[in-house]
Amino acid sequence: MKSNQIVLAARPKGLPTYENFRFENIELAEIKDDEVLLKASYISVDPYMRGRMNDVKSYAASFEVDKPITGGVIAEVVESKSQSVKKGDTVFGLLPWATYTIEKAVNLRKIDTAYAPASYYLGVLGMPGLTAYFGIMAIGKPKAGETVLISGAAGAVGIVAGQIAKIQGAYVVGIAGTDEKCRMLKEQFSYDEAINYNSSKILKKSIAAACPKGVDIYFDNVGGVITDAAILNLNFHSRIVLCGQISNYNNTEMPTGPSILPRLLTRSVMLQGFIVSNYSDRFNEGFEHLAKWLGEGRIKYTETIIAGFDKLPDAFLGLFSGKNQGKMLVKV
Ligand code: NDP
Repeated sequence: MKSNQIVLAARPKGLPTYENFRFENIELAEIKDDEVLLKASYISVDPYMRGRMNDVKSYAASFEVDKPITGGVIAEVVESKSQSVKKGDTVFGLLPWATYTIEKAVNLRKIDTAYAPASYYLGVLGMPGLTAYFGIMAIGKPKAGETVLISGAAGAVGIVAGQIAKIQGAYVVGIAGTDEKCRMLKEQFSYDEAINYNSSKILKKSIAAACPKGVDIYFDNVGGVITDAAILNLNFHSRIVLCGQISNYNNTEMPTGPSILPRLLTRSVMLQGFIVSNYSDRFNEGFEHLAKWLGEGRIKYTETIIAGFDKLPDAFLGLFSGKNQGKMLVKV
């Protein structure tokens, strides 16, 4: 069986380019006992993968040069020598960027495509949805009437985080990069207000106007100047849910910026960074809530699905220029 895979050709300096990826045709071996042959259906591209392209110790192991890039994949089982995972099953796994791959059944999780589209298990019912859930419910803990401000609001995590905050009775404001995304947040995803950070002249003032009672919870997906402006609007005893810093992921130098700690001190702000896997022992709770809210129509979701395995580098790079609304995925 032949497969097409994508390896890390070289570590990027700054924003990755096509030169950092290489396509390879490989011949797969026969499957052994307890293994399955998988055909990829959807491959996830996620901002954290940029960190894995660096040779730096972090919470997720670095990709190795000349080895396949790996990430979240939904696949169909086309051949099985496993008792637990059968031919025809749809599974989730952390798998190579490859059209076909062989994996041990024990590393795969079967998913229920009767409940939701398979691709949702990479988004609202997968890692980004759980990130939104624990960021809001375990860290931010909004009370009814509080104001929740979310940066990167129109992406995979932000769309869900805003709706969960809304379910808790909060007033929810998003920050995103285009008017179209802002309209979408308000019209489709129950955000109360949305700010286009690219057209705002003074972001600090735009946030103040959109959040007349100040900000009680800031859910940060992006960092940088957007976060600097958000911090200037924080209320006494507010919370910062430090989820992501995408504006810094391609930096080659340590960013400098306003020293925010005095501001946090004088407003008694709690800042909590987190990695979704911190909550792995509560994933069932998160999944059950997300699935229930999705089933009830209280959470809506959207995806940007790009067709074609060869488009994986484009899809990944598109995350850094805001090409996606909701979850960015490739349909193989
Ligand atoms: P998104 O779907 O939100 O995609 C990335 C978005 O970030 C883009 O669409 C773009 O939207 C925005 N963006 C890109 N560059 C910049 C920039 N320089 N300044 C401001 N905005 C920018 O990604 P996810 O929802 O998957 O992830 C959101 C964040 O959460 C990321 O930082 C990610 O690393 C983090 N994360 C953290 C996890 C954790 O466990 N802590 C788990 C999962 C994700 P726009 O057009 O609005 O600019």
